[in-house]
Amino acid sequence: MTPPGYNPFAVAQQQIDTAAAALKLDAATHALLREPQHELAVTFPVKMDDGTTQVFRGYRIQYNTARGPAKGGIRWHPEETVDTVRALACWMTWKTAAVDLPLGGGKGGVVCDPMVMSDSERERVARGYARAIGHNIDPWLDVPAPDVGTNAQIMAWMMDEYETMAHRRLPGVITGKPLGMGGSAGRAEATARGGWYVAREAAKAFNMPLNSSKTMAIQGFGNVGSFAAKIGKEMFGMRLVAVSDVNGAIRNPSGIDIDALFDHYEKNNTLVGTPGTEEIPREELLLQECDLLIPAALEGVITDKNAGRLKTRMILELANGPTTPEADNILAGLGVVVLPDFLANAGGVTVSYFEQVQNCYNYYWDLDTVRSSLDQKMTQACKEIFERALQEKTPVRDAAYCVSIARVAAACKLRGWV
Ligand code: NAD
Repeated sequence: MTPPGYNPFAVAQQQIDTAAAALKLDAATHALLREPQHELAVTFPVKMDDGTTQVFRGYRIQYNTARGPAKGGIRWHPEETVDTVRALACWMTWKTAAVDLPLGGGKGGVVCDPMVMSDSERERVARGYARAIGHNIDPWLDVPAPDVGTNAQIMAWMMDEYETMAHRRLPGVITGKPLGMGGSAGRAEATARGGWYVAREAAKAFNMPLNSSKTMAIQGFGNVGSFAAKIGKEMFGMRLVAVSDVNGAIRNPSGIDIDALFDHYEKNNTLVGTPGTEEIPREELLLQECDLLIPAALEGVITDKNAGRLKTRMILELANGPTTPEADNILAGLGVVVLPDFLANAGGVTVSYFEQVQNCYNYYWDLDTVRSSLDQKMTQACKEIFERALQEKTPVRDAAYCVSIARVAAACKLRGWV
C-alpha cells in the first residue's frame, strides 16, 4: 500500500513540527497534537464461505476530538498498517478544521483484501468489525465513513449491526450510507466536486485559469478519480489527457473521450483499450504534461525521485498524503502550486457532515442544496487559506496547516487540556 521505507505517520508528525514552529505553539500543545488521543486495535473471527474461520485485524483511531466527534473513513486493504491509520486520522483532524466543521479526526482500517471476498464474506467482515469497535463509536463520539476498499453497502451493514447492538435507530453513527438508508444526496461525488471548487478558487487566487484549453491527468479511477474526470469536464470543459488505475494507464494528448472511457471501463473493467488511447507504463502517469495533475489513488506517490520530472503547474491532491515532504520542497522550488489533500479532498467529509446533520433532523436535502452548501464551505475555507499563503509567501500546504492546527490548538486550550 505504501512504498517501502515510507512511514506516513512520520511524515504527518514532520508536518506538525513545521506548523508548530511557524505558529510558535507551546511545548505541551505541540506534544498533544503530535500523538493520537485514543487508539483501538481489535481482532475478530469471521466464518468464510469454505467453512474455515479467519481472524482479521482492525484499527479505529480517534486522533483528536477537541472540536467535536472524531470523523474519518474505514479502509480495507491487505497492507493496512497502524501507522497508515494514525497518519490518516491525524490528517482528518486538520481536514475537518480546515473546512471549519465542528468535528475532530479519526480513521479506521481492516487488514483484508475485499477483492477476493464474496459478498456474504464482506458482510460478515463488516458486521464483525462493527461489533469489535461498536463500544467505541457513536454519533457524538466517533463517526466512521467509507474509504479505500469500502463502500455504501458496507456502511449500511455496519450501521445495522451497530443499531442492533444499541437497540435503536442511530443512522448518524456512520456516513456514506446508501440513499434511502440515511445517505445524503451528492455524497458519492462530494470529494471530487469539492476538489473542483478548490481548484476553481486556486485558479483565481494564483492566476491559473481553468477552461477547455487546459488539460488534466488523473491517477486512480475509483470513486474519487472517476468523478474527478467527469466533473472536471462538466465544470470547466477540461481535457483529460491521461488516466490510470491499478491495472494500467492510458493517454491521449489531444483529450480522452470521457463517455467512451466510462463505457469501455463499465464493459471491460479496465481502462486499457479505451478507443483513441495508447497504453503507457503505470508509473508514467504522473510524468504526463498537463495543467492540472490529480493524484486520486494512494499515498506517497510523488517523491523526491519523480517530483523534479513532473510537467504540471498545479496539483490537486484528492488522494490522502500523495506527496512526501521532500517532494513538496522540490515542487515549491519549481513554482508548482500544490493544493494539499486535507483541503482539496475535504468535500467528502463536508457532505458526510451534512449527512449527519440530516440524520439528526430526520429531514433530507435535495441535490442542489447539498451542492450549494458544499460550494459555500469549500470557497470559505479556500479564502482563508489562500490569503494566508499569499500574504506569508508560503506553499498552500504550510498555510493550510497553520490555519487548521491553530483552530485545533485553540479548541484544546478552551477545553483546558493544555
Ligand atoms: P477507490 O478504492 O474507489 O479507488 C482507488 C483507485 O486507485 C482505483 O481505481 C485503483 O485501481 C487505483 N489504484 C490503486 N493503486 C494504484 C496505482 N498503483 N496506480 C494507479 N492507480 C491505482 O478509492 P477512492 O475512494 O477513490 O479513494 C482514492 C483516494 O482518495 C485515497 O487516497 C482516499 O484515501 C482518498 N479519499 C477518498 C475519499 C472518498 O470520499 N472516497 C475522501 C477523501 C480522500
